Amino acid sequence: MTDTSPYSGGCHCGAVAFTATGPLRDVLACHCGQCRRTSGHYWAATSVPLDRFSVTRDDGLVWYRSSTTATRGFCRRCGASLFWKPEGEERMAIAAGAFDGDPPFQLAGHIFTGDAGDYYAPEGPPPAASTPPGTLQAACLCGGCAFELPAPAGEVTACHCHQCRRLSGHYSASFDTDEAALVWRARRTLAAYRTPGGGTRGFCDGCGASLWFRAADGAFSVEAGVVSAPTGGRLAAHIFTAEKGAYYHIDDGLPRSPGA
Ligand SMILES: [Zn+2]
Ligand SMILES: [Zn+2]
Ligand SMILES: [Zn+2]
Repeated sequence: MTDTSPYSGGCHCGAVAFTATGPLRDVLACHCGQCRRTSGHYWAATSVPLDRFSVTRDDGLVWYRSSTTATRGFCRRCGASLFWKPEGEERMAIAAGAFDGDPPFQLAGHIFTGDAGDYYAPEGPPPAASTPPGTLQAACLCGGCAFELPAPAGEVTACHCHQCRRLSGHYSASFDTDEAALVWRARRTLAAYRTPGGGTRGFCDGCGASLWFRAADGAFSVEAGVVSAPTGGRLAAHIFTAEKGAYYHIDDGLPRSPGA
């Protein structure tokens, strides 16, 4: 039987909401450099024809032309990476992590795996950590935000909490660093989103890239996807797995925690 159910979703702050009518295409995870900077790790999306998609709240919606062939939609208030629209195709790719509940789609494959970050593998255990230069370079897509930080990235933690899933579009991956050691090269489009838990999330409001998170207690982490390889990082653990999406599995053998 064909699934003609309506599915809803939106960004984290509520300023962007959408509906998509089934059937929803299975989910593809994209490891290209643009998806990695936008999401802060890598991006995963379903796709629907435009006539089965509608934006029901667009107060925060901004479109960024990320290449000659596509635009990306994100929320300028919270930075959630929501949509990817290929030119000349009557369809919308929608972040799997942005949906309410668990629609009946499954992660069906990985694309642009040659551009994956060096701190994880698209499938299976992460490779050994690389040897980075003394300084890591981080940047958004549009160039409005760029900074340097001391190497190596070290232990990278994947977070599957509801907040990270909404904001990244899939789930997040970040590493702790000393905020005072960041050297900003550009920050004319740096925006901050105050999260309900008292944290602050830094993102680019020109292109939607996820940059960093400062917890309520001051602990500071950088999104691994915005850092150029070699990072000297290695994915080490998964947290908040009790909140993970039903459409993907964790298959890398790393330690998991249902909470923090
Ligand atoms: Zn938002
Ligand atoms: Zn940017
Ligand atoms: Zn999280």
